[in-house]
Amino acid sequence: MSTLITNIGELVTNAPGAGDGAGHPGAAAPAGPGPFAAIAGAALVVEDGRVAWTGPAARAPAADEMIDCGGRAVLPGFVDSHAHLVFAGERSAEFAARMAGTPYRAGGIRSTVAATRAASDGRLRANAERLAAEMLRQGTTTLECKSGYGLTVGDERRSVAVAAGITGEVTFLGAHVVPPEFEADPAGYLDLVCGPMLAACAPHARWVDVFCERGAFGPDEARAVLAAGQAAGLMPRVHANQLGPGPGVLLAVEMGAASADHCTYLTGADVDALAAGTTVATLLPGVEFSTRQPYPDARRLLDAGVTVAIATDCNPGSCFTSSMPLCIALAVREMRLTTQEAVWAATAGGARALRRADVGHLGAGARADLVLLDAPSHAYPAYRPGVPLVAAVWRAGELVAGAVPPA
Ligand SMILES: [Zn+2]
Repeated sequence: MSTLITNIGELVTNAPGAGDGAGHPGAAAPAGPGPFAAIAGAALVVEDGRVAWTGPAARAPAADEMIDCGGRAVLPGFVDSHAHLVFAGERSAEFAARMAGTPYRAGGIRSTVAATRAASDGRLRANAERLAAEMLRQGTTTLECKSGYGLTVGDERRSVAVAAGITGEVTFLGAHVVPPEFEADPAGYLDLVCGPMLAACAPHARWVDVFCERGAFGPDEARAVLAAGQAAGLMPRVHANQLGPGPGVLLAVEMGAASADHCTYLTGADVDALAAGTTVATLLPGVEFSTRQPYPDARRLLDAGVTVAIATDCNPGSCFTSSMPLCIALAVREMRLTTQEAVWAATAGGARALRRADVGHLGAGARADLVLLDAPSHAYPAYRPGVPLVAAVWRAGELVAGAVPPA
């Protein structure tokens, strides 16, 4: 079964070789992600859930069925590489107080921990599924989901199990904060995280993460958590340099982490290390928006050659948006990414932060994860911020949200 999706006003492929107009971009492109690339007046063929061909509509091959996009833009599905969807409760009062002048502190996480521990498995699952569905409607076809609001062996185990029900990109974040019952014994909590908690969670997870920040975990503790996770077969990623300058970014690079997330406060040494290493800098502009922190210096990272991703950090405390289009708009307006850089960072960048070659681009062989905008170009999520422009979403070639508007 093959489907020809045609009359695409602008097709963003992120595939090397696309846009040469010679009629063989998709077929000639390697399967790995490349820089932002787009084809005007394009078509795309989906076969068995994969992209089989992309190129100018006039040269499209025949297919079993045809979808007319009416000149609208098609992007790769968004890859949200940083989200915390397993929790109970909400913190709107804390947000309101923050907007009235109270500064954000990592300790607010503990109120969500209490609500999460008190919630049933069914409530945690329903909440996570609702947020994942909300993301899908806004074009996110791949999401990462962390534990980290349970902070007991049992509550972390059920958190990663719930996360595994909504995504394959599950991250064990037992080292989110030290829970209140270990306040006098942080070393005891670290032993629990690296021992029985990790052992209970590793079978459900792909990644290990740590909140390396003043008020959370220091560099030696964070290194111990990541090393224990690696020994259990998990790959590292780090919450780094969110609330102030610190050792998180350098630690992430040192440990070969796939991503250093936040990067709000960077030194020259941090930028140099990221540029020389393989760690993606994942920027979370919704957090700065929602906490009134200064935005990270994205231009400095990009100009140094660092691979940049953007993600939502959807969580009930520091940023409760599930919208990648909003994060694209913030990245453009507040962090001075070009519209092309922002869309790349939200798709191919996220894929690199998850070490995934099959998503985040639409080269031949990629999973057919597509977003149809009710707009003619990739610039619209930033150009028309806050407007629900995602008309239809396909994952692995299957229409999973919305509908194709009449041509
Ligand atoms: Zn986070």
